[in-house]
Amino acid sequence: MATMLSTCPQLWGPNSAPLFSGLRRSSTSTQSFFQPSSSSSSRPSRTIIAMAGTGKFFVGGNWKCNGTKDSIKQLVSDLNSATLEPDVDVVVGPPFVYIDQVKSSLTDRIEIAAQNSWIGKGGVFTGEISAEQLKDIGCKWVILGHSERRHVIGEDDQFIGKKAAYALGQNLGVIACIGELLEEREAGKTFDVCFKQLKAYAGRSSSSILLVVNAVPSWDNIVIAYEPVWAIGTGKVASPEQAQEVHVAVRDWLAKNVSAEVASKTRIIYGGSVNAGNSAELAKKEDIDGFLVGGASLK
Ligand code: PEP
Repeated sequence: MATMLSTCPQLWGPNSAPLFSGLRRSSTSTQSFFQPSSSSSSRPSRTIIAMAGTGKFFVGGNWKCNGTKDSIKQLVSDLNSATLEPDVDVVVGPPFVYIDQVKSSLTDRIEIAAQNSWIGKGGVFTGEISAEQLKDIGCKWVILGHSERRHVIGEDDQFIGKKAAYALGQNLGVIACIGELLEEREAGKTFDVCFKQLKAYAGRSSSSILLVVNAVPSWDNIVIAYEPVWAIGTGKVASPEQAQEVHVAVRDWLAKNVSAEVASKTRIIYGGSVNAGNSAELAKKEDIDGFLVGGASLK
């Protein structure tokens, strides 16, 4: 990811005027989102045509269960020397055991996400890490509902929804992952699966406010990561059209089930084999507000 980020072009046009109005961007350039700014004599522009989510573009790196003290030292050094665009939120997710090392050596410009958290307050839960502990060591975010936790570890929608509600209650931002398996896509169930996962984040509620159970307290600190499982770590990226179709459906679900305001504000990012070569086309799609990057974030 250091390479991807260090090669981000400037967001400013030839006259130093921003190429977007508010956060809804416009650009006529077809240049790569991650193309080096030094590669062109005229100042390059990013290819995001528009952003439906009203937040900043968001790029997260999920390092998964990778790295050693030495390799992470190098990664942090690369990130520290990268040129980052001013209006892009950048977050990295190191393994728990290296969070402290990363926190003490990484620029404050980049925030830190944990890759998991416990469903409630800490205590007699061997091997778990609580949201309070993550806050204590300087994490701002936690990645929840990642497909590896769903399909390898066996976490279900309700368990993940509880974790999200608790983490948000502790003021951690949540990168809430959703996404369908290949067989679910092939069976035409992509939207059903994603909506069911979203519903679990939203929590069980009823017409009585007193009966809301484990509902996320607010959507302000949630970024939704649409990560089709068949695209994660496989090199098979969703086409921009496939991703956009689901992002629009997710936004529509938020409008119908949460509120129009949340639908318009919430960032919906895409993950699944994103790299420097395919990010530009994906970023052009109006409802793609950023990326969650696995393998390429280690390079
Ligand atoms: C991920 O694990 O969240 C991910 C998107 O991985 P990759 O980029 O390697 O597909």
